[in-house]
Amino acid sequence: MVRAKLVHFKLSRSIVSDLPMIVGHVLKGAIFRGGVVATLAVILGLSSFFNAPVAAKDKGSTVAKDARLGGNKARTRFVADLSKATDYRIFTLADPYRVIIDLPNVNFSLPEGLGNSGKGLVSAFRYGLFAPGKSRIVIDVIGPVHVEQSFILKPKGNVPAKLVVDIVPTDRKNFERRRRELYNKRREKNNVQPASVDKSIEILTREKKHKGRLRVVIDPGHGGLDPGASSAKGSKEKDVVLAFAKVLRKKMKQLGKYDVKLTRTVDVFVPLAERVKIAEDYNASLFVSIHADSISKRLASRTRGATIYTLSKKGSDLEAQAFAKKENQSDVLAGLDLPETSSEVGGILWDLTQRETKNQSLKFAGFAVNRMSSKTKFTQNKMRSANFRVLRSAIVPSVLIELGYISNPEDEKLLKSKKWQNGMAIEMTKAIDRFLKDLN
Ligand SMILES: [Zn+2]
Repeated sequence: MVRAKLVHFKLSRSIVSDLPMIVGHVLKGAIFRGGVVATLAVILGLSSFFNAPVAAKDKGSTVAKDARLGGNKARTRFVADLSKATDYRIFTLADPYRVIIDLPNVNFSLPEGLGNSGKGLVSAFRYGLFAPGKSRIVIDVIGPVHVEQSFILKPKGNVPAKLVVDIVPTDRKNFERRRRELYNKRREKNNVQPASVDKSIEILTREKKHKGRLRVVIDPGHGGLDPGASSAKGSKEKDVVLAFAKVLRKKMKQLGKYDVKLTRTVDVFVPLAERVKIAEDYNASLFVSIHADSISKRLASRTRGATIYTLSKKGSDLEAQAFAKKENQSDVLAGLDLPETSSEVGGILWDLTQRETKNQSLKFAGFAVNRMSSKTKFTQNKMRSANFRVLRSAIVPSVLIELGYISNPEDEKLLKSKKWQNGMAIEMTKAIDRFLKDLN
C-alpha cells in the first residue's frame, strides 16, 4: 500500500510544553493567516527540547527539523519547527478531507519514518517538494474541519521558528461554504477559467505534426511529496523509477532515431493530468509510465514480477483495479483538488479516437512483453488493464509498466542494479523502436 508507506510525522512529547507558550503568544495577538509573524518573547526553558539549534544548510532555504501534533478531537494543533519564519498559504480540501499548507522551498530534514499515526482530528500527514521551488505539507483529517488559526512564530535564540496550525471540527455545510468563499476569492485573483469539457473536436482536427523525428515521453511515476511504494529497507518507488527512466532515456538517445522527454528529471511532484498533457503537448507518439509496486509484508517474499497495464474503464481484474486505484491516489496524496479530466467525458467522436489510441497502446504492450521477458519474470497476467488517470490520453498511445515489486527483496535488488537497469532499458528501447517503426 502506497499510503501506509508514506513518511509521517511523529508525535513528540514536547508538544505539551509548546502549548502554553504558543497559547500565550496567540492571546497577545499573533493572529492567523498569511504568515503573520509573532513578535513576542519566547518563554524560557523550551530550548532544552531541541537537541541542537536549527540552522539552515544554505542560508537561502528554510529547513524543517521537527513537527508534532497535540490536542484532541475538539482542537488539534500542528506545529512544525522551521529554521526561519517564512510565508505560507493554507487551505482545505474535501473527498478526502485534507488541510494543505503551501510553503516556499523547504528542506525537510525530518527524522525518517515519522509517524503513520495521527492525533485528534489528524489521521496522518506528508510533506515534500510539490513543484520546483514550492513545498507542501498535506494533513489528512478525519472529517470536515476548519482552520481556526495559523501563524508563524519567529525564531529566538536556540528556539526555532514555528509554524502553528489549529484545526477544529465543523460540518460539511460550513466546510463547503468556507471553501467556496476562498475558492472564489482565489479565482477572482488569478482569473482561473474552468477547463473545457470536451476536447474531441479539437483532437480530431488536430494535425499530427511529426516534423521529422517521432517523439516519446517517459514518465517516472510519483515524486516529491508522493513517494509511491517502498521496500522494507526504505527504497522508494519514486527514486527507483526516476533512475530507470534516465537510463531508458540514455538508451533511446543512443539509438539516435527519436526525440525523448521525461515528465520529471528531479524529485518533484507532477500531477497525473499534467503528465498526460506533457505527452499531448509534445506531440508524442508513445507515452510510457514507469512504476514499481509493493505488497503487504506477508506476501512480499513470494510476490514479484513485472506487469504492463493499458487503459480500460472497468479493469481486467480486481488486482488491476486495486492497483489503478492506488496509483490514482497520487494527486490526492499531494493535496490536489482537480476536477475529473476532460478525457473521461465526451461523445462518440471521443470514443472513436480513444479506441484507436487504445489499440495502439495494446500493440506496444505486446512488443514490450516480448522484449522484457528476457530480463524479468512477469506476474501471472502479463498484460492487464484498468482505469489509470495517467493513461487517459485519447490521442497518445499510453502504457504503464510496473517494473517489479519493490517490496520483494529479489526484485528490489534488480530494480536497483545498474546492470539490470541497462539491460532492461535496452530491451525496452527495442520494443519502442519496433512500435514506432510502423508509424513512420
Ligand atoms: Zn507507482
